[in-house]
Amino acid sequence: MSTSTLQLLQAAFLQSWNAIVITDAKGLQVEFANPAFCAMTGYTMEELQGRTLRMLQGPDTDRAVIEHLHQCLNEARYFEGTATNYRKDGSSYLVHWNISPVRGDDGALTHFISVQQDVSAYIQSERKNRLLARALDAASDPVMLTDAAGRIIFVNTAFSHVTGYGADEAVGATPAVLRSGLHDEAFYSALYRSLAEGRDFRATFVNRRRDGSLFHAEQSISPVCDERGQVTHYVSVSKDISERVSKEQALLDAATRDPLTGLHNRRGGEKILAEAQADARKHGRPLSLLVCDIDHFKRVNDRFGHPVGDRVLRDVACMLRLAVRSRDAVIRWGGEEFVIVLDSCTEARAAELAERIRGRVDAHRDAEVGALTLSMGLATLLGGETVQQLVGRADAALYDAKRGGRNRWSVARPGSGD
Ligand code: GH3
Ligand code: MG
Ligand code: MG
Repeated sequence: MSTSTLQLLQAAFLQSWNAIVITDAKGLQVEFANPAFCAMTGYTMEELQGRTLRMLQGPDTDRAVIEHLHQCLNEARYFEGTATNYRKDGSSYLVHWNISPVRGDDGALTHFISVQQDVSAYIQSERKNRLLARALDAASDPVMLTDAAGRIIFVNTAFSHVTGYGADEAVGATPAVLRSGLHDEAFYSALYRSLAEGRDFRATFVNRRRDGSLFHAEQSISPVCDERGQVTHYVSVSKDISERVSKEQALLDAATRDPLTGLHNRRGGEKILAEAQADARKHGRPLSLLVCDIDHFKRVNDRFGHPVGDRVLRDVACMLRLAVRSRDAVIRWGGEEFVIVLDSCTEARAAELAERIRGRVDAHRDAEVGALTLSMGLATLLGGETVQQLVGRADAALYDAKRGGRNRWSVARPGSGD
């Protein structure tokens, strides 16, 4: 070996950032230790030379690891392990090290060389990370962590429990898998704006589970920044409030729904009408109203009994619901009278619908009751008109239809409801 190569190897040994120690062929006595090894253990080169490395072991040193080490040394095999060692001052550190046998030209074992690294800080942070992950996992509320690009990198058990997505399915996907489609673009714009400005975003989300069902979650999403203030992750913590929402919904339904037909009741309907009128005014859109009343319904009750009357009311409610768009509200206004609120609907289109409904009910034959008919009054909101005036005119038109012979619809005239 040339002198320059020897010099290079010596410089590498002395300057290596990793601790390196060379022992005799028994693996016992230290022959050389580099400055990094001295710095790690607290011993000088002179203190180490000729001594055995057993002095680095102490009460917390893992016996099984040392036993394995001896076995490898005895058999002149490669060893790698991690254990607690002790510095000269008695303080401990976790060391990860390997030992390789060194052989001479004749193949005979002459030394062992060991490369070591103090991994205390790394192991501690690993342990802390594992502890944090376990704590997050044990939390009863769903937690989701995404990277800066919005890819899910962690979900806890509660998340899987609530959403139906296992960690294996969720990780790598984006939170968009939970989208219910019930939030508008403005909702997401507010979310993205908040996060882009480094602020938390809190809202009640309607999310979709893996099985397609919906749930309500009070969710807070926060950006997580590194030391330089760069967003590296987003963390979302939520609370499943479906139970609370469904209780609230049930209470609300009890107050605003008609239990017989499932339609809005008069109280719920009046609110819908007031909102529809305000909306129509604001956006300058037409608003039409159909008041429908079953003809000679008293006879149905008289002839077939009240329960059959109830069933017929339910069937008519269903026919009305099916005849209109999903955005149109069908209200059980009272007894056998229904109001249909046709938002963004002109008088001409409302008239087409009235005729379609009339025709369908007229053509229907109830298995017990036979033929049924409806009479209807149609009114379209006039400028400056109140909801009461609009309903009044539709009622007057309904009266006209009844007087005109029933099974028909008529259109309200301006001022007719006064
Ligand atoms: P018209 O063609 O003039 O509308 O005659 P009608 O018999 O339909 O009108 P009327 O107002 O005289 O009678 C309405 C009947 O509707 C009387 C009432 O017993 C019945 N009714 C109201 N609410 C219910 C209900 O919830 N269930 C049942 N079965 N009948 C009801
Ligand atoms: Mg009637
Ligand atoms: Mg009536």
